[in-house]
Amino acid sequence: MRIDCVIVGSGLTGAVIARTLTDAGRRVLVVDRRSHLGGNVFDHGHQSGIRIHTYGPHYFRTNDDELWRFVNRFASFYEYKAALKSWVDDQFENWPITGSYIRRMAGEKWEPEFKGQPANFEEASLAMMPRVVYEKFVKGYNEKQWGVPAHTLSANLAKRFNVREDDEVCLMGHKHQGIPEHGYAGLMRKMFEGVPVLLNCDYLKQRDEFKSAKMVVFSGPIDEYFGCDLGRLKYRGQRRQHEYLADVEYAQPCGQVNNPDPANGPHIRTLEWKHMMQREFAGRIRGTVLTREVTVTPTDPNDFEYPFPDETNSRLYQAYRERAQAIPNLLVCGRLGEYRYYDMDQAIARAQLLAKRILNGQKVKAED
Ligand SMILES: Cc1cc2nc3c(=O)[nH]c(=O)nc-3n(C[C@H](O)[C@H](O)[C@H](O)COP(=O)(O)OP(=O)(O)OC[C@H]3O[C@@H](n4cnc5c(N)ncnc54)[C@H](O)[C@@H]3O)c2cc1C
Repeated sequence: MRIDCVIVGSGLTGAVIARTLTDAGRRVLVVDRRSHLGGNVFDHGHQSGIRIHTYGPHYFRTNDDELWRFVNRFASFYEYKAALKSWVDDQFENWPITGSYIRRMAGEKWEPEFKGQPANFEEASLAMMPRVVYEKFVKGYNEKQWGVPAHTLSANLAKRFNVREDDEVCLMGHKHQGIPEHGYAGLMRKMFEGVPVLLNCDYLKQRDEFKSAKMVVFSGPIDEYFGCDLGRLKYRGQRRQHEYLADVEYAQPCGQVNNPDPANGPHIRTLEWKHMMQREFAGRIRGTVLTREVTVTPTDPNDFEYPFPDETNSRLYQAYRERAQAIPNLLVCGRLGEYRYYDMDQAIARAQLLAKRILNGQKVKAED
């Protein structure tokens, strides 16, 4: 059978493109080198019945009604608003920082210490929050996350902060927030219904077998596609240590507790998955699972999580991108292909746009 499109990667990017092309009558084949579907949103059950997000906690959120309807085609979601805390000064404090905490620490009339155009992450942070808050909550966390001093990081990183003047304690104020009832693994299985998928297959080791396909959509690491011949793009990832406490109902007040202070240990955060489950199921489970995450610079591409935010890597990425662009009928996309952090809703919206362009026969360029 002639295949119209080989899609490399069964994460959200590959899944949405595969679903859209299949629904439009195109013949696609999806290959993934992992043994499971779903890429990094995959989750699995612990023996206790607790559901663990295998590659770190995933909170689905979007303001887009259309996109929300799209994901609800494949799963029912229960509402889950991520509520986070930080372990600071030997107690749990809300994260994001609330207005009352800022006023308590820096007074009613605090003024940002940094004014003007920030040249780095530290300056950008100090333009948004008092130094005392930056040092307790942000500096240590980001130095663990990226493994370098905060003043060497890009100012753009601070754009992801949400410093609230009010006292609302939920992480993000999106209109739709939730987790699929049968897990992300269930959602992804449903999205791939009727789509042929080959697991445990590394496209780069077997590409000759797929050369009759009219088009290749590659959602793996862009540098690997070219054998890393210009050098490797740097990523950060996390080592996860799971601990089952059989006789503890809940060990912490919420699903995610950040650990910004290096004096409290190398882990960056501790997750307690039971909080992320539906109450009625969680209540019947004996014990709890805690997962401590320690950030590392991985060498195994399966552990690549966050693209490293600096100029050197961004230039290297651009060099690979130009080469990919010059190859007809190749689209390199997704978080690894575009060397870019996408939230799930952004990854889906992006994949929908790319799929539409493929169907319209438009030249697809990942950076548009
Ligand atoms: C730690 C962490 C936490 C996150 N939490 C959230 C969250 O709370 N909310 C949110 O909205 N988003 C979150 N995200 C983002 C979310 O994970 C991404 O949006 C999503 O995974 C992007 O999907 P993708 O398909 O682009 O990439 P991936 O899911 O990585 O899929 C790529 C797939 O390609 C396969 N592949 C690669 N190379 C090859 C090859 N040569 N041959 C065959 N297969 C190959 C891989 O095995 C993988 O399955 C988080 C991300 C991380 C890293």
